[in-house]
Amino acid sequence: MPTIYVTRRIPELGLSMLRDKGFTLDVSEKDGVLTRDELLGALRAKPYDGVLSLLTDTIDAEVYDAVPTAKIFANYAVGFNNIDIPEAKKRGIVITNTPGALTNTVAEHAMALILACTTRTVEGDRLTRAGKYEGWGPMMLLGMDLAGKTLGVLGAGRIGSRLAHHAKDGFDMNVIYYDVKQNPDFEKATGARFCATVEEVLRDADVVSIHVPLLDSTKHLMNAERLAIMKNTAYLVNTSRGPVIDEVALVAALRAGVIAGAGIDVYEHEPALAPGLAQCANAVLTPHIASASVPTRDGMARLAAENLIAFFEGKTPPNAVQ
Ligand code: NAD
Repeated sequence: MPTIYVTRRIPELGLSMLRDKGFTLDVSEKDGVLTRDELLGALRAKPYDGVLSLLTDTIDAEVYDAVPTAKIFANYAVGFNNIDIPEAKKRGIVITNTPGALTNTVAEHAMALILACTTRTVEGDRLTRAGKYEGWGPMMLLGMDLAGKTLGVLGAGRIGSRLAHHAKDGFDMNVIYYDVKQNPDFEKATGARFCATVEEVLRDADVVSIHVPLLDSTKHLMNAERLAIMKNTAYLVNTSRGPVIDEVALVAALRAGVIAGAGIDVYEHEPALAPGLAQCANAVLTPHIASASVPTRDGMARLAAENLIAFFEGKTPPNAVQ
């Protein structure tokens, strides 16, 4: 039966599905991300048949060389920008991900960041805890209503379209979007208006939420020039991948009032933050937890296990990355 290396403990549900099928699992005992040397060393230790990897593991030619017996890498994430896909294809290695399981949870987190920014919830919490609340004030911490405002979605795939649904049906927002593919079904369901360019979204939106994958073409999709196109009353939310925003430019924009604020879950060089970001009172920052609900993390573990099981039963894994 297959022997799998698991680079960090994931919810038991996925591990027990694999053990029940007779797989042998070696699960990293480190409660943290393996360093490069630790990862390579662990993979060289045994002729593993497959690897269950996380988005924090960089999987490239050197890793494939370290474990030449492994014919599948099952990534415990929907994004797979941490994996060298062309190199895997060249070697006939199968890569899988966990799409769908986290769509609603991430969309809810994006909505939470939008609300935290526009209602100034986190600033209010900080002020209250600091003992600086001196009584109700007519001009204290004024925010923005969402009803009637425009949400601009960059990347209307699974998560972006789910967020659009929450924004329209839950908060009476209008939706506009930019995507490399126009999506008539999405437009019909949400009344969303397609914009031919990113710039058109940025000009018209009161809240911009990013849901594109990290690709060469989406790195620094939001840069200083594009931040400057946004309304100075608008908010930027990112639950996709950090490098999609030029984080240094974001800090400058937040400081200068180029935009009103930002809600950020992912960072360009995470876990590090760009200098000054933590000091921006108009930013709400979460530590890459957009998919972190108990059922969703179980769902991701189930999908990763299903992909491995299907592969070793000689079937095409349901979430093979093409
Ligand atoms: P998806 O593939 O369903 O949607 C991505 C959309 O982006 C697609 O519609 C695609 O056409 C579009 N797109 C691709 N390139 C584009 C470009 N250059 N400009 C505009 N649109 C472009 O993916 P999804 O399930 O919605 O997930 C989106 C991303 O969210 C993932 O790739 C992942 O990186 C990120 N994510 C983050 C977390 C988190 O914990 N913060 C959790 C899950 C997913």
